[in-house]
Amino acid sequence: MKSMQGKRVVVLGGAGFVGSHLCERLLDDGAASVTAVDNLITGNEENLRTLKGRPGFSFVKADIVEGIPVQGPVDYVLNLASPASPIDYANLPLETLRVGSIGTENGLKLAEANKAVFLMASTSEVYGDPLVHPQREDYWGNVNPIGPRSVYDEAKRYAEAVTAAYGRKGVQVRIVRIFNTYGPRMRLNDGRVVPAFVGQALKGEDFTVFGDGSQTRSFCYVKDLVDGLVRLALSDEQHPVNIGNPREMTIRQFAEAVRAAAGGGGTIIEKPLPKDDPKQRQPDIGRARSILGWEPKVPLEDGLRETIAWFREVAVRRPSA
Ligand code: NAD
Ligand code: UDP
Repeated sequence: MKSMQGKRVVVLGGAGFVGSHLCERLLDDGAASVTAVDNLITGNEENLRTLKGRPGFSFVKADIVEGIPVQGPVDYVLNLASPASPIDYANLPLETLRVGSIGTENGLKLAEANKAVFLMASTSEVYGDPLVHPQREDYWGNVNPIGPRSVYDEAKRYAEAVTAAYGRKGVQVRIVRIFNTYGPRMRLNDGRVVPAFVGQALKGEDFTVFGDGSQTRSFCYVKDLVDGLVRLALSDEQHPVNIGNPREMTIRQFAEAVRAAAGGGGTIIEKPLPKDDPKQRQPDIGRARSILGWEPKVPLEDGLRETIAWFREVAVRRPSA
């Protein structure tokens, strides 16, 4: 069976939330070298603290839009570089468009030059505000091309297109459509619902539900996601694969789940719903199950317990984390 044993891996966006967990998993699996490339625009070197002492790990601070200063040989290029939270990409619209387009192509060129496998971290946002539910990979999506989320959605759709184009000219490519993922090392103030509600629960504040909270999401624990990413990278699958947890709930139900897991928090208060906020989201993971033998294992209650423990220990004492 294929494994990461002895492989040389470059992780673009490796100092981010998901990227840093992925780097750890690759080293745990015996990768010979793991090079995290990151300009720290939304990431944090603190995420690499435990990695920095490990043999085979290195960090290169660079903007992948300008080029990727990494020498070969390389076996895998895993591209997670992009602002990812709606607040981050609203604050960084052009950076988001550039990293998804020029940055992705620079990653593809690095893979092509080294005959490496290239994995693109795409997103459920390519489905936009989906009219098909749950979302299967053959659904083309419902995206507003000029709305506030378009800088992210269209950058990722372009990233898939350029990845598929390099795939047609012979580069080994993988495309993963990641659904809402949570866990330790999210930034407390990144605006996403998990750190927002966990921070509110721990501080005894009210839960800020956007709109009436009837919109749905499906939350996947980061350990499960990372396992899916590694399985996809090691597979021969050139077409997009959804990775996410199919357990769907409303945002109101999610606030109650956080309250129960944290043992605190105020009441639910409604705030304006952001424009183009998707009304429903749930992955169909039939392809991940059949092609990768993957499905999520960590129940929401367990994942939330781990996440809350981390925020309690680290983030609340270090609010800039
Ligand atoms: P994150 O912001 O924590 O990580 C992204 C990393 O990319 C950061 O460390 C950032 O500094 C880096 N980066 C951004 N632009 C860069 C550039 N030009 N050059 C070098 N580095 C750059 O976000 P995350 O949640 O860890 O997301 C990781 C990836 O997974 C992203 O591509 C995101 O779109 C995708 N994704 C995540 C989720 C989720 O729920 N976490 C869902 C769907 C897709
Ligand atoms: N959300 C919310 N309160 C918050 C932050 C987010 O109700 O403080 C909602 C948001 O409107 C969306 C859902 O939670 O419907 C998930 O938002 P997030 O930003 O985490 O991810 P995405 O919208 O990209 O799925």
